Amino acid sequence: MAGFSVKTTRRCELVDITDRVASLVETSGATDGVAHVYVPHTTCGITINESADPSVAADILMYLDELVPRDHPKYRHAEGNSDAHIKASFLGSSVTVFIEAGRMLLGTWQGLFLGEFDGPRTRRVIVRVEGAGGQEG
Ligand code: ZN
Repeated sequence: MAGFSVKTTRRCELVDITDRVASLVETSGATDGVAHVYVPHTTCGITINESADPSVAADILMYLDELVPRDHPKYRHAEGNSDAHIKASFLGSSVTVFIEAGRMLLGTWQGLFLGEFDGPRTRRVIVRVEGAGGQEG
């Protein structure tokens, strides 16, 4: 299974991983298919959103922080990172991107982001490319 590691540097951040996924798609040789991008973690997630203006990622983080407080009197999870688990679930743990003519079919402003909510940590991103003209894995 192909993939890569991401070393995050803050407790909460959105890390643009578009180029790293794109290079795995290119390496796969698939010209027409899909790329599944998955994070095997419970306190980080993955999402597709605007990568041109970094203010968008900042606003997403700001708003998630407002929605999900770090401390809440009703949290039961003893590890103290319930907010991170909740934010990770909001994003989800995978995205699927179509591949056309050997490239990810992303909109002009779209990029792939790993959402770190309990960093800094080293995270694993798993990428499985399936499609005509490529090797699976
Ligand atoms: Zn936990």
